[in-house]
Amino acid sequence: MNKSESTVSWAPRVSRERILELYIKVASGNNDEELIEEIAQSFYNRCSDIIRIYERRFACPQCREELPLPHLPGKDPMCGSCGWQMSWKPFFRTYQGKQLSVNTDVTGITREYLSELPECKTPNEKMILIDALIHACHEWVRKGVTYYGRPLAVNFMEGKMDQVVAFLENLPYGPDSLPEMTEQFMEWRKQCLSLFSDVQIERDKVRHIVDSMPRELRTEIEIMLTQDRRQKAAAQLKQIEEYSGEVQFMRGDIARQMVRIIEKQMK
Ligand SMILES: [Zn+2]
Repeated sequence: MNKSESTVSWAPRVSRERILELYIKVASGNNDEELIEEIAQSFYNRCSDIIRIYERRFACPQCREELPLPHLPGKDPMCGSCGWQMSWKPFFRTYQGKQLSVNTDVTGITREYLSELPECKTPNEKMILIDALIHACHEWVRKGVTYYGRPLAVNFMEGKMDQVVAFLENLPYGPDSLPEMTEQFMEWRKQCLSLFSDVQIERDKVRHIVDSMPRELRTEIEIMLTQDRRQKAAAQLKQIEEYSGEVQFMRGDIARQMVRIIEKQMK
């Protein structure tokens, strides 16, 4: 066996400090082309890796050959071209918990960014594209209604959801800010912030439903949770649909929310 030293690395989320520095400069009419380029490229790398994970592939760290992500736990990835290989577990840890896994809806704007950045001719165009990416919302459509999930920025920049939202809300705009950026910001605010109050309402509904669930079902789920069989618990929670015709969340979202609520109640 030809075990190799090279390990797989993934593009990190972009630092909020650097983004803030960029916005301050843009708001005061100082187009720092190098900084725009640096951040545009960091987002580009991040988007590329998000798409890689979504399409279940990765780049060989030695020869950059694109390889399929192992489907089964325990199956070690290896490169047919250069002989690189790695054990599955440390390989899995290279991307686990890094906010790289997203769903279909997220890949739209990500792919858009990847195809449009190389077409941008001026720093301003790049800046508008960066701004569109960080102010995009994760959305999905169900029964003809669009729901906004969360700011996509969480996948692209460091920080937890509340930190990222506060950060985006407080980005500086000045007399020299580009009008497109202001428009994008207003649109983001409309979509995203209204969502947060909606989410609260939906959560209350879900909480109410949990409370009115049959005790056997609830006990069963709680046992699964204590035994750390979360996936099974989530699957079981799909039964929730029988108890509600009005909650418009997708199944998985309801299940996840409920797992969270029940976990909290168990503490
Ligand atoms: Zn290789």
